[in-house]
Amino acid sequence: AKADGSGVFRAFETNVDRGLRDRRVLKQDLRAAIERNELKLFYQPQADASGEIHGFEVLLRWQHPERGLVPPAVFVPLAEESKQIDAIGEWVLTRASQEAARWPKPMQIAVNLSPVQLQNDGLPTFVAQILRETGLAPERLELEVTETALFDDFARANSTLQRLRILGVKIAIDDFGTGYSSLAYLQEFPIDKIKIDRSFISRVQENNRSAAIVRAIIQLGLTLGMKVTAEGVENEDQLNFLRGEGCPSVQGYLIGKPLPIGEYAHLVGG
Ligand code: C2E
Ligand code: CA
Ligand code: CA
Ligand code: CA
Repeated sequence: AKADGSGVFRAFETNVDRGLRDRRVLKQDLRAAIERNELKLFYQPQADASGEIHGFEVLLRWQHPERGLVPPAVFVPLAEESKQIDAIGEWVLTRASQEAARWPKPMQIAVNLSPVQLQNDGLPTFVAQILRETGLAPERLELEVTETALFDDFARANSTLQRLRILGVKIAIDDFGTGYSSLAYLQEFPIDKIKIDRSFISRVQENNRSAAIVRAIIQLGLTLGMKVTAEGVENEDQLNFLRGEGCPSVQGYLIGKPLPIGEYAHLVGG
């Protein structure tokens, strides 16, 4: 290693210091990211039991000028802390709705909502406005919320979800089985779909318990008249298991990776 100034400095900087400095710098960069057009939407296909693609989950990426593609697990928490997530979330909803509205095939799009957005009283009004402006049929928009988001402020989250549902948009519960009191939520909240977390799917082959849990979640969802999507399907064995259990919808690298929509133009009829 070179003994230049920065090298010496770095040698004395702890990992914790560097982590904190990184977060501060990234937070500042994030403010300009929307204006500089650095945020990108990737689309991951979802297939029904026959293998046909019926929709896409919209996944946010940050194309940082120096760091390359920054994953949402890194910058979404920063955006939540610095209150930028509302603006970013509105940008995602707007862009994804504009995009889907011009597809020849009326596929569904699933957009992730931060717990912070769910606590924002203005969200349903914003969604209504986007639907009006883009002409997107409400039932084509699905909003994914986590159990943690519902846990934050039960009453407020519930009223926001009810108002969203009146608009005709769909509500999916994300990462199902990894949060608290999942079953209570299914009773209290207006949920249209359950997404079974990848951590269960990845173990269905080697672990009987995981297989039993997945089987039970599928039955629970179907019995309640909900849709069910299995997340993180990576191989044929997992897919065959899920099909055998009557899982109506699957998502994962086996079906397709998250990519810019141009890569999936053939699927949307474009
Ligand atoms: P998530 O909503 O659970 O999204 C699924 C994650 O699993 C995505 O990671 C996706 O790329 C990854 N994935 C999909 N299929 C497979 C597979 O077969 N194997 C494996 N190993 N991974 C798979 P990604 O895109 O890095 O997103 C991470 C999380 O960031 C998301 O988890 C979601 O919670 C959050 N996120 C993404 N986009 C947004 C957004 O627009 N707004 C908000 N608030 N959060 C977002
Ligand atoms: Ca999701
Ligand atoms: Ca998920
Ligand atoms: Ca997740």
